[in-house]
Amino acid sequence: MARMTPEEAQPSVRIVEVGPRDGLQNEAGRVPTADKADLVRTLIASGLQEIELSSFVSPRWIPQLGDAAELLDMLAGDMPAEITFSALVPNMQGMERLLEANEKAMRAVGRRAIDKVCLFTAASETFSKKNTNATIDETLVRFEPVASVTREHGLSLRGYISCAFACPFEGAIATDAVVRVAERLANELKIDELSIADTIGRATPEAVQERIGALGSITGATINLHLHDTFGRAADCVRAGLRAGVRSFDGAIGGLGGCPYASTPGKRAPGNIATATLVQTVEDEGFSTGVDHAKLGAARQLADDLVARARSGAPG
Ligand code: MG
Repeated sequence: MARMTPEEAQPSVRIVEVGPRDGLQNEAGRVPTADKADLVRTLIASGLQEIELSSFVSPRWIPQLGDAAELLDMLAGDMPAEITFSALVPNMQGMERLLEANEKAMRAVGRRAIDKVCLFTAASETFSKKNTNATIDETLVRFEPVASVTREHGLSLRGYISCAFACPFEGAIATDAVVRVAERLANELKIDELSIADTIGRATPEAVQERIGALGSITGATINLHLHDTFGRAADCVRAGLRAGVRSFDGAIGGLGGCPYASTPGKRAPGNIATATLVQTVEDEGFSTGVDHAKLGAARQLADDLVARARSGAPG
């Protein structure tokens, strides 16, 4: 029998880098597209398995991500097949832009740009209305054609549930509300993956255990945890997630973005768990991630520099 390396002997956990989308979306300043492409290349080099690159939302809503197609153009040829690249799609117009970008990349370099389509709904009715101008039900109806086109094109599908623990407007969110939305995403949209998002960092280890336990009966979808470190509890929640059987977690390089709902003019509240913190927590619990810490450190340095430059040029 071949000798196993220590990494092969350990169970592995997937680290999904969401900084280029979720991080930059919540930065006031605009990072130039060429700099975003450089950041993504350093993230690719650091051994991450999956990277959420951007959003095909209307540039009127989120100008920071209005360059999704240009970013993919710049990255064409630099996207290894073994890494999964994903992007958010809010509606059919966004899906059409994504398909165009994929066709263009296929013609240019023989590889599609985006492998996974991410849809966004919420467990809180108020958040859904304020964030997407639609009820939860309306978002699910809007996603039906997006989901079927995703499947026709052989792409995989992630469904995010925002406010899966608490909502900035409604407060605590019941587990039942999360389960109801999760069941509809699984049964009606046939998602491959469910991402449980703690939008404002209110999750506790106990709540993570409870949510994951309740969602365990939803078959067919991989469960991912998208944790925020607003109150410094994200690492504890990662450990609770691992104990509950979760093997996929989102992080943002350098904790990019912050939390717009918890920040004040004088102080930026932490947002997504920093990828380095996530990787260290997961590895300390005995799992491998495949991430090269030094290269991730270089990506973090670049992210810090880009955001500092964008902030200094940003109004306010
Ligand atoms: Mg987030």
